[in-house]
Amino acid sequence: MEGFAIRAPVPVKDRARALRRLAEEARALADPPVSGFRVGAAIIGARTGRVYLGGNVEFPGAAISQTVHAEQAAFASAWHHGETGIASMAVSAMPCGHCRQFLFETLAPRARPFQVTVGRRTQTLAELLPDAFGPQDLGLPGGSMSTRPVRLSCKGDRLVQAARKAAGASYAPHTRAHAGIALLLADDAIVTGRYAENAAFNPGLAPLQSALILRDLAGKRRVPIERAVLVARAAAFAHAARAEELLAIVAPGVRLETVYAR
Ligand SMILES: [Zn+2]
Repeated sequence: MEGFAIRAPVPVKDRARALRRLAEEARALADPPVSGFRVGAAIIGARTGRVYLGGNVEFPGAAISQTVHAEQAAFASAWHHGETGIASMAVSAMPCGHCRQFLFETLAPRARPFQVTVGRRTQTLAELLPDAFGPQDLGLPGGSMSTRPVRLSCKGDRLVQAARKAAGASYAPHTRAHAGIALLLADDAIVTGRYAENAAFNPGLAPLQSALILRDLAGKRRVPIERAVLVARAAAFAHAARAEELLAIVAPGVRLETVYAR
């Protein structure tokens, strides 16, 4: 689903209310067969003012850490569509600690913490995550949505090159394990996903998860995956095992093709 705009000018109070309604509607995008707990999130992109939606997704049979939260799903959509930051957002349930940490790293250096609306309550991210640990504690600028792409090269066909481009646009300042995935669907469409890292490592969003979220938002959840290519930079941290585990569940019989880029 492409982002869409709330027509300006809309008073801030009404905008928060509209965004809250959209986050509720976004629960329809959730796919939580394990917990049965649907969460929706709506993000206004800082660059265009467009709105991006996402729902939580769980993968039965996979390690529980493969789960994607609604905030991450909406983030993946906004980032993929060229947003460079979050202007404000709403979630249908209070963001968990994992998501507060993940969202903190979207803030560009010196960016003002955006507002997060849950129900009738609106707080800034700084209020939701006081005394945050982040890239600045590691001597890095941060800003997962606004970091410049890295230049990567590798040989391969159009699917490999799509994955390479996604890997170049990924965010991995802490491990330098830049990674992207490209999926070829049965209708010949290609969807890509980028890795989004976090200073605390574990709240990161893996490239296959990003690609699956974007496939679902494009209305193609039922379209089979025919090929999957992971392009990654060789680093201390490897993406392949995690992607292989999930791919075996969402696309049984499809072998993950892994290409290392320089
Ligand atoms: Zn969460």
